[in-house]
Formats: sequence, C-alpha cells, structure tokens
Amino acid sequence: MIRTRFAPSPTGRLHLGNLRIAVFNDLFTRHHRGVLIIRIEDTDEERNLPGATEQILEDLAWAGVRWQEGPDVGGPFGPYRQSERLGRYRAKALELLAEGKVYPCFCEDPMAAAAGAQGGAREEEATAPTWVTRDGAPRAGCPGGCATLSDAEVRTRRERGDAHALRFPVPRDREIFFHDEVRGDIRVRGHDLGDFVILRADGRPTYNFAVVVDDVDMAITHVIRGAGHVSNTPRQILLFEALGAEPPVFAHLPMILGKDRKKLSKREGAQGMSAFRDEGFPPEGVVNYLSLLGWSPGDDREVMTPEELASAMTLDRVGASDAIYDPEKLLWICGQHLARLPLETLVERLRPWIDPKRFSLQDEELPLVVAAIRTRLHTLGEINDVLEILHPPSERLAKGRAEVSESRGWDVVQTVRLALEGLDPWEAESIGNAIRGAGKGMGLRGPELFHPVRLALCGTRSGPDLGLILVALGRAETLRRLERVV
Ligand code: GLU
Repeated sequence: MIRTRFAPSPTGRLHLGNLRIAVFNDLFTRHHRGVLIIRIEDTDEERNLPGATEQILEDLAWAGVRWQEGPDVGGPFGPYRQSERLGRYRAKALELLAEGKVYPCFCEDPMAAAAGAQGGAREEEATAPTWVTRDGAPRAGCPGGCATLSDAEVRTRRERGDAHALRFPVPRDREIFFHDEVRGDIRVRGHDLGDFVILRADGRPTYNFAVVVDDVDMAITHVIRGAGHVSNTPRQILLFEALGAEPPVFAHLPMILGKDRKKLSKREGAQGMSAFRDEGFPPEGVVNYLSLLGWSPGDDREVMTPEELASAMTLDRVGASDAIYDPEKLLWICGQHLARLPLETLVERLRPWIDPKRFSLQDEELPLVVAAIRTRLHTLGEINDVLEILHPPSERLAKGRAEVSESRGWDVVQTVRLALEGLDPWEAESIGNAIRGAGKGMGLRGPELFHPVRLALCGTRSGPDLGLILVALGRAETLRRLERVV
C-alpha cells in the first residue's frame, strides 16, 4: 500500500509552488490507489499564522486534492499536527539518547545555530559549519565539543539541570547515500553535514527529526517534495537508520523558476492561491498546468482531466531540470478546460461571477450569451470583460457608429437590417446566410460587409462569431442597434 504525505507549515496561504507538491502527491497516490496524508508542520510557533491550516485545507479541497488522513478527517496514525505530537518526538529522542545514538549538547545557546530551522536550506546552513574544538582540531560537532565530554561530566551537568539540546553525531568519514527517483543517486560525506540537533534545549524537535519520526510513525512509503529538501535528506537518512526504520522512496521535484530563470516572484505566481481563486481560475486547469511543471505524460497530450492525469502520473517521467512558470500557458490550459465544459455547466459556473452592477441579464439570455463568447474565456472572472463585447459601454457603441459613418457604411447596415427584420428562424446559421445574402446583392463580402455590421452592433471590427452574437443579442436589440446607425 502506497502512503504519501503533504506536509505544509501553516505560515501562510498555499502558493503555486506548494500546491504543485500537493498535486503531484495526490496524482501519484491516486495512480496507485494509495493513501494521502496531510500533516501540519506547526512546531515553529512564532511563524504559525492563525487560521492558516484551515485555509490551506480549503485551498487543497478547492484544487480537488483528496486526502484520506489528516487533521480534519483524522485517521489511525494521528494526531496529524506536529504540535500535538511533541511528547512523541521527546520520547523518541530520549530513546536515542538511552541507546547512545545522540549526545547532550550543553553549548550556551545550542539553538543559535539551528534557530528557526523549519525546513529547506535554512536547516542545512545552520548546521553545516565546521567548528574548532577545545584541542584546536576542526570537527563538525558543536561549538563546545560536547561530544567529547566524559560520561561523568555529562551526568553531573544533567543532574544539575543544565539546559541541553540533543545532538546527532555524524561520522566524518561516513558516506551517506540515497537514491532519488528524480535526481538519481546522491552521495554526501559525513564531514560535510556536521553533528546536528534533533531536540532543542526547550524540548522542541528540529524539522529533520520531527519529519522522520512522523514519516516512520505514519508508515510513509514515498516522500514527494520540493528540491529545496534534497540537502535535508542525508540527515533524514541517518535518522531513519538510527530509528531502525527503512527510509521511504524519495522524489524531489524540480524547482519552479520565472521566465528570467530566477526564483518566482510574488507577481509571477508565488502569491497565495487567493489570487487565482479570486480571479476565477478553474481549479482543474490550474492542477493540469501544475502537473506539467517537471512532468509529462510521455505523449503529446497537454490538456488532461484530473482522472487522466492520475492514470498517467508516474515518477519516472519527472525530469530533474528546473521548470519554468509560464502564466500564458496557465491561462491557455485553463481556457481549454472551460472550452470543454458542457454549455449548461459553464453557465452555472459563470453565473456567480457576473457583476450585477455592470450587466443585467435575464436567466434565459445567459446560455445564448455564453455560447457566443465562451471561446474568449480563460478564467471565470474574465466573464465581465468578455460580456462587454456584447454589451459595450455606450461610448464604444457611439464610436462604432461614427466609424460606420466615416466609411459610408450606412447602406450596408441598412440592407443587412432589412434582411434580418423578418428572418425566421433567428438562429446563428440562418442569420449568417441572411447577412451573406444581403452582401451578395450589394456585391460585397468579407470586411467590407462585416465591419460596418460589427461596428454598429458592438463598436469593434472583430469579435466572436457574428451569428452567435446576434442570437445572444436577440432580434429586437440587434435591429435597434442597426437602426441607430441608419
Ligand atoms: N514542512 C515542510 C515544508 O513546508 C515539508 C517537509 C517535507 O515535505 O519533508 O517545506
């Protein structure tokens, strides 16, 4: 049974980068009919934001991510918030101490080095430097060389109640190895890691320790996370080993960079999911786009439903090179998903997005309007701007009429108006035929015929299919707009 986890820290809203991690975990897990766990990594109290957990779960649900165990739904391996598991980390750390696998570190401020280390690169930076011990020999230990204290000294200081962290000794000559499903074999020298803290003097676990205890306890089989965590993995491998557990399969997804190949800026999509939700991005489009950052189904498919993505998602198709975030492609894929919806479904999804202050549309009008303009939509939120094609501000219509006058297009408009007046049925096809027929009579076709009509109706020379526009406007409104020109 495949068991995966998505482990956000509740320090803010989900953004594109971490939603993508959740999406890959979700699709991979669905592919294998496994179990996805949501684990909240909230041991860094100062960085926790009230309400962030609920918001993250809500954003995940919006994106269609499905989890079987988590802080909201519970499950047999809970609790699923690290803040509720502190006793567990402490107990495991003391077990390691009793087994002689970690040592107490009494350095004045043992946490200065690992301060704020919740994840990613910071943890590595915090523990990598090589200190010089009292005898002057450089070693990757702690500033005070606590690993070399005698048993008696340690006992005295502990009995005296000296504050101490627990530190994991890393053999300097040891080569730590792991295989990454995406990046291949990775080898690191113990010397380059340095001894690292697993339990702070105040009793809180460090990121690496809490994650490993949890991944063991929760029987995680596959860890799929961002490339920023590659540098943490060797320490985690050592901890799996110390806890007597088989490490899971690791897959570190490539970074997402902006078009300038630099870290994504806020404007480019590093902003919270709220921006995408508030603009009415269809979640199935967002998920589809994110799944293509570093992965492809191996054929030329790009627009895929969540089910198609899940059935194609395997780790061997994840590439190691950085993925580039392309907002236009995101919009295109979203547009493709909207284009594939049945008209009635699209209408229902658009309804709440229409600004009643700008447009008053009758219920029965809406499907006709949406049919006319649907190919223009990439997001649901665009509906108001797109509706302006049919219902432009009066200045634009006035400008359109002026342009018809300048080009002496009245006759064209008048002839078309007469052809449409008694037309039956009022359908896109018959309308198109009637307009072309009227044009034929005048020896006109193409732009000479259509531009004056479009300018009179919508104030622009181009736009969606003219027949669909007229159906959406209805006969009365169409004739009224044409008459104003004449
Ligand atoms: N809490 C970590 C983060 O938000 C994830 C830890 C992990 O996946 O191992 O980056």
